[in-house]
Amino acid sequence: MTGLYRCWAEVDLSALHGNLNEIRLLAGPEKKIMAVVKADAYGHGLKQIAAVLMQAGSDVFGVATLAEARAVRSIGKGWPILLLGACLPFEVESVVREGVMATVSSVEEAHLFSNAAVRLQRSVFVQVKIDTGMGRLGGPPEAGEALLEEIGRLPGLLVTGLFTHYSSVEDDPDFTLRQRVAFSGLVNRLKSKGASFEWLHASNSGGLLLENDSDCNTVRPGLLVYGIAPKGYRELDARKIARFRPALTWKCRIGFLKTVPPGTAVSYGHTYFTKVTKRLATITAGYGDGYLRAASNRASVLIGGRRCAILGRVTMDQMIADVSDAGPVQIGDEVVLIGNQGQETITATQLADWCDTIPWEVLTNITYRVPRIYRGGNAA
Ligand SMILES: *Cc1c(COP(=O)(O)O)cnc(C)c1O
Repeated sequence: MTGLYRCWAEVDLSALHGNLNEIRLLAGPEKKIMAVVKADAYGHGLKQIAAVLMQAGSDVFGVATLAEARAVRSIGKGWPILLLGACLPFEVESVVREGVMATVSSVEEAHLFSNAAVRLQRSVFVQVKIDTGMGRLGGPPEAGEALLEEIGRLPGLLVTGLFTHYSSVEDDPDFTLRQRVAFSGLVNRLKSKGASFEWLHASNSGGLLLENDSDCNTVRPGLLVYGIAPKGYRELDARKIARFRPALTWKCRIGFLKTVPPGTAVSYGHTYFTKVTKRLATITAGYGDGYLRAASNRASVLIGGRRCAILGRVTMDQMIADVSDAGPVQIGDEVVLIGNQGQETITATQLADWCDTIPWEVLTNITYRVPRIYRGGNAA
């Protein structure tokens, strides 16, 4: 079936299922799991992935936009969903009507939800965000008790959760500890006053692998759901990550082959000249498919089970790989951009390193032009 595609992504749904089980083992049985499925489930395809994660037991979904919340809703009617970003004023009424949980950082925001809830004669569930050092959303931890008290008095509004977000958990244990202490302090002060939260969370993938958040009852991983461990200066426990499997393989094909003499210029801007006679493959992916142009002259792909360097600039729809050492390759052969071929592997993290970016960007950059093909599990 994949014989029909020029550039496509294969998503292994059984890997996602397995990854969610591994997350549950890491987090412990008492923790709830909020699988983060924003940005089209990190480029894997939101509806299919949410369906699999519902089967695998994700308790709640984290999304970035109302449209994403609606996509999750369309496949699992009652499933709890948290909108992680700030809600725009013109979205508030829809969020209340559609029963999506909202993130609230201030009394002003809470007022908008309360007013809409009263007007619509409904209740709205909100989760309060605390800024312990990310500097993006959230109220200050010192003022957390006052914030919750004020918000808690508003009609039509129920606070079901409290959360914070790490800024540098993969890299900086000291700063992360400061964030933890600030959040735990607030949680303990609130608990001692009898407050309780259905959803209490801090850990993204890095936090889940590197931090102890025993005062929380929920974890909030994204990248790890898709089988990729966030890499930073802090060393990860190899045993913890060994059983995660990347769900996505990205492929294209050889579209054209030629042998060129030394001194041949390759691609736009002539940033590469052959030094010796080379066999070159023009392959059917480019930045129009989301393969970052920053990979020019830096990345490799897998052809014939061998690593083959990308020569010259990545263009919109094609790029050129050196197949001089790849053995007897043919037009139409599969090229792996991310994934395994033979004994070789290129991970999203490796490709990200070549492009001076992060695997999150590599995955979410794969464009709509690349069909996602689902395998394993109950692929539709
Ligand atoms: C994206 C996001 C996550 C998931 O982060 P990963 O590093 O992919 O695990 C968790 N929480 C919030 C608030 C996010 O925006």
